[in-house]
Amino acid sequence: MYPRIRAALDDVPAYVPGKSGIGLVKLSSNENPFPPLPGVLERATVAAANLHRYPDLAATELTCELADFLSVPTEFIAVGTGSVGVLQQIVQSVASVGDEVVYPWRSFEAYPITTRIAGASVVEVPLDADSQLDLAALAGAVTDRTTLVLVCSPNNPTGPTVRRDEFAELLARVPEDVLVVLDEAYVEFVRDPDAVDGLDFLAAHPNLCLLRTFSKAYGLAGLRIGFAVAHPPVAAAIRKCAVPFGVSTIAQLAAIESLRSQDAMRERVDAVVVERARVRNALLAQGWAVPETEANFVWLPTGARTTEFAAACRRSGLLVRPFEDDGCRVSIGGPAENDLFLRTALAQA
Ligand SMILES: *Cc1c(COP(=O)(O)O)cnc(C)c1O
Repeated sequence: MYPRIRAALDDVPAYVPGKSGIGLVKLSSNENPFPPLPGVLERATVAAANLHRYPDLAATELTCELADFLSVPTEFIAVGTGSVGVLQQIVQSVASVGDEVVYPWRSFEAYPITTRIAGASVVEVPLDADSQLDLAALAGAVTDRTTLVLVCSPNNPTGPTVRRDEFAELLARVPEDVLVVLDEAYVEFVRDPDAVDGLDFLAAHPNLCLLRTFSKAYGLAGLRIGFAVAHPPVAAAIRKCAVPFGVSTIAQLAAIESLRSQDAMRERVDAVVVERARVRNALLAQGWAVPETEANFVWLPTGARTTEFAAACRRSGLLVRPFEDDGCRVSIGGPAENDLFLRTALAQA
């Protein structure tokens, strides 16, 4: 006889991490191919000497620097353990048993997990034929039970962005008492001038919350630090749901140091963006129907061949992220890693 566990957890899918393995090229987790930015390791090492102390609960210095960087008041910032940690806090803040959370599918796998953990109901809205979010359908799926709408731009795992005009229309249609989260994990990689930038909409929409991270462009995936930008009552609710002292001093100081290295960060992201175009164009030339991508990965609609395709990559020493019977997401790595992937893809085309 075991203790009773909430039945809602029966439907919680496991988060599937991108595989890793010694000697294998890891293109399965959308990580930055570059190591932490200059100065970050030094700052983190100094912080490590104080590991017997609790971190600053309010992440005061980082919050000030982020507010300054984004030109918003400090009350708008809520820092957490990766943007997935912040997402969990957001869902807990607005959704519980009987509430509905509307999000696109296929999209980021944390959405169904965090929604179900909170006991809320999932409402999954299919992508359109070009693997893009269908914003009209998302708005149309909102009912009086909806408390949260999640929008992912660029969409993980398919790649396309949401356009500014479509997003404006969604905000106009969704009731003001429903929170809209714009997950901008890859915002630094976006080059399309028509793509949405959530900051442009924040002032006019008290029900909008932006989700950003240090895991991708800033290369701090292993430290678990991300943040929300939202109006003060929303940000305050998100902070209430945090695990106390979850964000370590090492993470806070590394994030500050990373934020100060904008030029180096942009240079690295530019290098990934150049490779992204090269990889996608080569795949299109091979005959793959790769959707447009503004993130640091490409999506191959491998369908029923997905498992077989991932296995072929594995035999070439490459780890990709397969989504069974649907497609493979492949992160943009360094040029030689990408070449290896392109050779493998050609053999499977
Ligand atoms: C990678 C990713 C995140 C960031 O996760 P962290 O918890 O910050 O590492 C958030 N949203 C999406 C869509 C992602 O792909």
